[in-house]
Amino acid sequence: MTFHFTHTSLPMRVRFGEPAFDVIEEELDHLGLREVVVLCTPGRQELGQLLADFLGPRCLAVLPEAVMHVPEDVAISVVAQIKHYGADGVVTIGGGSAIGLGKAVARDIGVPVIAIPTTYSGSEMTAVWGMTTDGHKHTGKDAKVLPKSVIYDAELTTELPIGISVTSGFNAIAHAVEALYAPDCSPIITLQATEGIRALFAALPQIASIPTDINARAEALYGAWLCGVCLGSTTMSLHHKICHALGGTLDLPHAETHTIVLPYVLAFNAPAIPAAMAALEGAIGDNPAQKLWVKAGELGAPRSLAELGMEEKDIPRIAEQVVSSSYGNPRDATASDIEAILRAAIQGTSPEAIN
Ligand code: NAD
Repeated sequence: MTFHFTHTSLPMRVRFGEPAFDVIEEELDHLGLREVVVLCTPGRQELGQLLADFLGPRCLAVLPEAVMHVPEDVAISVVAQIKHYGADGVVTIGGGSAIGLGKAVARDIGVPVIAIPTTYSGSEMTAVWGMTTDGHKHTGKDAKVLPKSVIYDAELTTELPIGISVTSGFNAIAHAVEALYAPDCSPIITLQATEGIRALFAALPQIASIPTDINARAEALYGAWLCGVCLGSTTMSLHHKICHALGGTLDLPHAETHTIVLPYVLAFNAPAIPAAMAALEGAIGDNPAQKLWVKAGELGAPRSLAELGMEEKDIPRIAEQVVSSSYGNPRDATASDIEAILRAAIQGTSPEAIN
């Protein structure tokens, strides 16, 4: 390990392990917020309403309008409603879609976000925002969008379907894997990344067999937190670039796409990242790329991009989009390297075939 690095920690305030409804008012008071709007997806409307009822007059409205990848028209409509209500903050309850909508609001009108995450995708720990306009997703970083307070309550995740639990967990693992070989990785990130991956790798099989196991749910949230910190603190590489292109261009589902693509990109990068591979082996054992692929399949995640609707004819334009955009990666990847990764991911073959 090289003890020569720059490490930046993002500010974070985390409440872990207490019922979210028991501490939410303390967090509002802590941030000096008087009246808020609750944001969630349509699927979590009931939970959003329970929170609103609990907050009583301090909640001005529940807006169950969050959808994946933050369509611009949804963000514009929600911002207008929040201005109309005169809220001085937002509380997101849900996964990355609800948090993404909260970030869009924070970016536009600067109101603080309190996040109560109910998946493992890790967005609550980053200042990265995303928005989709005319089928094109833009992302950027803005300190304003980083949630000011995050409340992790495992009880709120026991109903998260096994499929989403597994794939959003692998989405989090992907953040930590790419952080391990990021140009701005540090020994602190390595600790967080390996511990986050270890925790999720241990918790997800337990969740798949007993979805209501509260200790496993808490361990997965803890892992997601650490992996989210890794995403928020480092620069992502080829894996995130490919998934971004697949999501934006073909509208493939976010977490499932990350789960499928990760083992192939890791197998491709492996010869160029000995220290990251050693750290990963310490976290999950020998042959990490193969292990990730086998484990995701065992836990019922989709194995191939073909299952998500991608066809071989889509390969050239995705590869072209990736090579024509700028990103860092520890190993140079030509268009034909990316095509080979995509072909293997479409077919769902073993990542051992890469290289
Ligand atoms: P999601 O938020 O879209 O949720 C998936 C589904 O699960 C939704 O239908 C939701 O209603 C449901 N759900 C959520 N929590 C539940 C629970 N506890 N019980 C039952 N159902 C529940 O999924 P996600 O994977 O967390 O988020 C994906 C989005 O987050 C994408 O738009 C992605 O780009 C974004 N993201 C952003 C960052 C970032 O740093 N900016 C990081 C990761 C993901």
